[in-house]
Amino acid sequence: MLLARERAELVEFCHRMQADDLTVGTSGNLSVRSGDHVAITPSGTSYESLTPESICVITVSGEQVDGDLEPSSEVPMHTSVYQRTDAAAVVHTHPIYASTLSALVDELPPVHYMIALLGGPVRVAEYATYGSDELAANSVAAMEGRYGVILRNHGATTYGESLAKAYTRSVYLEWVSRMYYQARLIGEPRLLPPDEIDRVGKKLQGYGQTVTSS
Ligand code: 13P
Ligand code: ZN
Repeated sequence: MLLARERAELVEFCHRMQADDLTVGTSGNLSVRSGDHVAITPSGTSYESLTPESICVITVSGEQVDGDLEPSSEVPMHTSVYQRTDAAAVVHTHPIYASTLSALVDELPPVHYMIALLGGPVRVAEYATYGSDELAANSVAAMEGRYGVILRNHGATTYGESLAKAYTRSVYLEWVSRMYYQARLIGEPRLLPPDEIDRVGKKLQGYGQTVTSS
């Protein structure tokens, strides 16, 4: 089976995405790149029923090379990210707070230092129909210099040098979105200056440890 390890990893993160409430129903899609190939979730399939065999494999230019099911409708967005960045994984979600803000603001401002994980304030891409080349183009344009984007009246997309990192960015994007939303309910939140976001961005590169058992 092509990309067996990547397919198994995708199934694991799809289940996590549901448990973490980062999407609803069959919405959202995930992919992992390996060389010229990309393992990607099938379109419109319940996450509970996913198995490694049901994951599709496409080329970085979007042609299907393996899998019986139809790949995600967002293939153009995933392949555009791979073509424009050094991403090894892309995570697209429909989380409630980022989706709410997508209908209200043009940018998620630096209301918490962890927005540095996304590369800075996260822009909202212009609306286009889901799965369209236009949405793919709008998304990568708004993602310039960032690891994530909010999609107008739709959801959010992040990428990373591994599926774990792309996924963690989606979790934090939703958390900062929620914090901003809640702060705005009470008043006008104070924001962090750009030089602090740069400083934290560098500091976070050395953040995190792995516990090893002997
Ligand atoms: P797929 O089920 O085709 O992956 O699409 C879901 C989605 O989120 C579209 O934007
Ligand atoms: Zn979507």
